Amino acid sequence: MVNSRVGTRLLQSLIRPIPRTRLLSTPNLPTPRNASSSSSTPTPQPSSQTRHTSTWRDMAENDITKYLRQTHNRVFEHNKAWAADKKAKDPEFFAKLSAGQNPEYLWIGCSDSRIPAEQITGLEPGDAFVHRNIANLVCNTDLNVMSVIAYAVAHLKVKHIVVCGHYGCGGVKAAMTAKDLGILNPWLRNIRDVYRLHERELDVIADETARYDRLVELNVLEQCRNVIKSASVQQSYAKNKFPIVHGWVFGFHDGLLKDLEIDFEAMLREIQKIYNLTEN
Ligand SMILES: [Zn+2]
Repeated sequence: MVNSRVGTRLLQSLIRPIPRTRLLSTPNLPTPRNASSSSSTPTPQPSSQTRHTSTWRDMAENDITKYLRQTHNRVFEHNKAWAADKKAKDPEFFAKLSAGQNPEYLWIGCSDSRIPAEQITGLEPGDAFVHRNIANLVCNTDLNVMSVIAYAVAHLKVKHIVVCGHYGCGGVKAAMTAKDLGILNPWLRNIRDVYRLHERELDVIADETARYDRLVELNVLEQCRNVIKSASVQQSYAKNKFPIVHGWVFGFHDGLLKDLEIDFEAMLREIQKIYNLTEN
């Protein structure tokens, strides 16, 4: 809660415009809903074109406090409505949800707020085990993602592992920016490594946007390879013929997923020449 001048200054310093090259993604500031209905001072209702840049920078301290309360409370209002809707459509919905999970999919996606796995795929609660991080990376020193993969494969017995990137990925763009990004450097270096692996292909693409789009795709392919390098995936596939791994890319311009159609069997064979971990 921001109720002091120091707090407000801190808040304002956080919303100061950041140079484009330093952004991981366009700041997606929440817009208060029904802001004017619960406030005697009308809260600015920016147009869709300006909502990312001028939402609360011009607000008075009191309005910021109200704005924070509203954006917090609206989540609970939505949650109540969602729970009521689910129960109305299926009175047993939450009893079934409580019984346990049996997801078919493991989704490894980008943290970008615009790509909610379930919403863009029509999946329901219980359908997908989800892991998201900046630029959908699968690093073998990241205990988080490696634990997620091991648990999803060995215990949940997922049938599909999807690595889903997206065009316009701020993480991929930031990785290729000639800047020191502090704590993000080691994380984003994994993407520079992808570029280095595919340098010849990428360097001949003259158009910068096309080159960036291709790097997004190649990053997804390399992360698929990293998933397949894991012992849990190799051992489960040898025994059960699942999971299989997919590389997809989401496009903001049309909301569609593109399947990169990786040849899972061929990729597995190629990887096992060096990274064979099927014996335990
Ligand atoms: Zn991204």
